[in-house]
Amino acid sequence: MEGFSGRRVLVTGAGKGIGRALALALSRKGARVVALSRTQAHLEGLKEECPGIQTLCVDLGDWDATEAALSQVEDIDLLVNNAAVAVLQPFLQVTKEAYDRSFDVNLRAVLQVSQIIAQKMIARGARGAIVNVSSQASHRALKDHTVYCATKSALDMLTKSMALELGPYGIRVNSVNPTVVMTDMGRLNWTDPEKARPMISRIPLGRFADITHQLWSRSRRTPSAYV
Ligand code: NAP
Repeated sequence: MEGFSGRRVLVTGAGKGIGRALALALSRKGARVVALSRTQAHLEGLKEECPGIQTLCVDLGDWDATEAALSQVEDIDLLVNNAAVAVLQPFLQVTKEAYDRSFDVNLRAVLQVSQIIAQKMIARGARGAIVNVSSQASHRALKDHTVYCATKSALDMLTKSMALELGPYGIRVNSVNPTVVMTDMGRLNWTDPEKARPMISRIPLGRFADITHQLWSRSRRTPSAYV
């Protein structure tokens, strides 16, 4: 992760898991990080660990609150749309609440946050980059993951549309599609060894990714080395 010194980066879902590790790693590389998340206590913990990080507490499922929160954020060069929820339900029991919540946070918020940040980049004539954190679940059907898989599949197409329309302004848009990472979300879904075995058998390293503060600070390898 070179070339981040002085760059202003907004990471969503930075309260824990991948987003938190990313916010810390970017800050260590000299980036000026704005960490957005939903739970104030998680952001306070992050701030304690890295006082240089600016925090922003908002529920990305709330359109108006998100708009208000982002009006305070200026001059972002890089945006990582990382926040998401995984509500696991068998297809026949999927509820409207789970569907709406998942699409609001995993897809609609990416569109909204990216629109706001991209408009500000364009207004000040800055080039920039946006990374959407998708998932292998966008390509493969997983039991009880109907809604999560659908949000990530839609996110991949949103990413392509954003790349198409923002490219002419000098704003690069990509997605990353990790497989299982042992965060709270990963542990919730993949701790059962019986369930995990077939998934691990398809991973050449024979294990799930495990993003920990120690791993990131001990190694010079890029995060993808752990995926
Ligand atoms: P995680 O441990 O559950 O952390 C998710 C973060 O997103 C938390 O900080 C949470 O906020 C925040 N968040 C959730 N809903 C939000 C909302 N409505 N508004 C604002 N922030 C919200 O998840 P993770 O495993 O790090 O996942 C990060 C990304 O990687 C997600 O996009 C996920 O789909 C993707 N991914 C994960 C895996 C995996 O196996 N873990 C695999 C592939 C892709 P608070 O903590 O502050 O409440």
